Amino acid sequence: MGNPLCERRSAAEWSAGSQVIEIAEKISNFEQLARIIEADLAALDADKIPAAWREAVVTGQLEFGYADAQRTLPTVSCRAKVTVDAVCQRCLEAFRLPLETEADLLLLALEQEADGYDDYEVWELEETLLQPQDIVEEMLIMALPFSAMHTESTACRALVSGTATSDKEMTTPFAALREQMAQDNEGSA
Ligand SMILES: [Zn+2]
Repeated sequence: MGNPLCERRSAAEWSAGSQVIEIAEKISNFEQLARIIEADLAALDADKIPAAWREAVVTGQLEFGYADAQRTLPTVSCRAKVTVDAVCQRCLEAFRLPLETEADLLLLALEQEADGYDDYEVWELEETLLQPQDIVEEMLIMALPFSAMHTESTACRALVSGTATSDKEMTTPFAALREQMAQDNEGSA
């Protein structure tokens, strides 16, 4: 059986069946997100990179439907979460970073407008066919913090010796990586 996450159909088709898709997919199958995480972890010494970071599993659900009774405005509710490995920008050690995203999206074609649906975020369909995985991936990328770090600074203090503050500009935080990816994509399009 095929994986519906990777199927391409029009938004109207997805919504017509009120399709519900359960997500249970390894991070390695999300190419862009995996590239960002890989670039982030590259700041670590090779022996400190968590061996199984690609195995982290994204879980959640996509539920297609409509915003209007006339069924002209396709929507999708997206919930997804995963705990990834990342580099703490304060102490430069690997740590587990929980990512979570939740949104109700209105699936609009380019230049299509819909007023009065403020409960939804607009998702512009750049192509006629929609691959649900792309939505999950972009939502998770947007959920990446600008600067990832241990929630408790005490978790860092246990690791930092107090001398290592000066060479901390070596790492590339998520915000910069994300920007770089966007530029790369524009360049190749
Ligand atoms: Zn830390």
